[in-house]
Amino acid sequence: GCSAEGFAAALRSAAEVIAEHRAELVDLDRAIGDADHGENLNRGFAAIVAALDAGVPQTPAAVAKLAATTLISKVGGAAGPLYGTAFLRASAKLGDAAEVDAGQLVEALRAALEGVQARGKAVGGDATMVDALIPALSAAEGAAGGSVAEVLTAAAGGADRGAESTVDLVPRKGRASYLGERAVGHLDPGARSTALLLRAFAEAAR
Ligand code: ADP
Ligand code: MG
Ligand code: MG
Repeated sequence: GCSAEGFAAALRSAAEVIAEHRAELVDLDRAIGDADHGENLNRGFAAIVAALDAGVPQTPAAVAKLAATTLISKVGGAAGPLYGTAFLRASAKLGDAAEVDAGQLVEALRAALEGVQARGKAVGGDATMVDALIPALSAAEGAAGGSVAEVLTAAAGGADRGAESTVDLVPRKGRASYLGERAVGHLDPGARSTALLLRAFAEAAR
């Protein structure tokens, strides 16, 4: 299972990965957006680390809620509120359990995807982070009988494949949709960051 401390450590790892990939995410967003996705996420995850430094909450749900409120308050643009909603919905699924098991993790991932879709109205094929999250959830469901690390590793693999699929899609939501067909051939920055985050969580859980 994953404890509050374990989840906090995973968020710290995610913050490092986002910092390492800041320029890459900026470049992806420069091609089809406004060149701020790497800055936005780096600011948000640095703020999450600062909040965790001030004190790790008692339960995994409370850690997820801290991440959510930090992202919503510190990150402007589309991705902050969308990732914030994802963590908020995940938090609501986790209840007051001290340890999250693989099944609960899959439920939390499903709630996160539903939250992103409720907030942003994107469906699969719109070339957004949803295209990383849908195959991540499918893969996680397929691994639900395994460990937390196995669920996250499966989810990260699904997210990688889903992110790659956005290259061939015409964006229908967010700034990239303003480019229409001209955005074809480009990886969606939010789909890429979703894959990076899930990979970081999977590595931290091993
Ligand atoms: P902004 O576009 O406001 O500058 P970011 O650059 O931080 O915000 O995030 C852009 C990413 O947000 C996109 O690559 C896409 O994955 C995601 N995104 C934008 N709009 C939506 C939406 N309606 N639903 C889901 N994801 C979206
Ligand atoms: Mg942007
Ligand atoms: Mg912006």
